[in-house]
Amino acid sequence: MGICIGICAGFAVKQASAVNPNMPTVVIDAGHGGIDNGVQGIGTKTDEADINLAIARFLKGQFNAAGFNCVMTRTNEAGLYGDTSKGFKMRDMKKRKEIIENCNADMVISVHQNFCPLPSKRGGIVFFEKSSAASGALANKIQSELNALPQCKKPTGAMYGDYYMLKCTQSPSVIVECGFLSNAEEDKLLNDESYQRAVAYAIFKGAVSFFAQNN
Ligand SMILES: [Zn+2]
Repeated sequence: MGICIGICAGFAVKQASAVNPNMPTVVIDAGHGGIDNGVQGIGTKTDEADINLAIARFLKGQFNAAGFNCVMTRTNEAGLYGDTSKGFKMRDMKKRKEIIENCNADMVISVHQNFCPLPSKRGGIVFFEKSSAASGALANKIQSELNALPQCKKPTGAMYGDYYMLKCTQSPSVIVECGFLSNAEEDKLLNDESYQRAVAYAIFKGAVSFFAQNN
């Protein structure tokens, strides 16, 4: 109910700091960070890690404005692995899982950017764990919103993915690959603040529509 009220009131802004026990907690996971830059824009050379964080921040703002509780796995450019010795990537992943478990996440949204040797490939794709029906439903909702973006050239379906981040909790979890940094046009778009905000809003709308149907 709280969700509906938040939306209907035109996103009446609440104080982000106060945890509202009546509202779901969404973990927003900006992929990569620190020495792990992820992939890189084909033209802009921007690191994926930075774009992930920018979109994650917009997403947090949108969820908070609607009254949701949000936990970010990272809030700055640093990675979560501690030191950079061998095995840092797994330590980074485990830390993310710990954050998800500690806050009793009701939903996990990981934000990433894609890269493909085929430069024509573009568009957002949402991944989910095959065995989780709820994750599939959430993925489909977000995918529809991404497909509805005016910049979307070719709508696609959500896909199964066998990834660590999709198995951190029983709660619905998705990885959103917002677009392809290997496509010059999409690389430019993903570096544009207004597009980053629009992508975040598409993810947010999909998530809210999932909550509205499942609570
Ligand atoms: Zn990534």
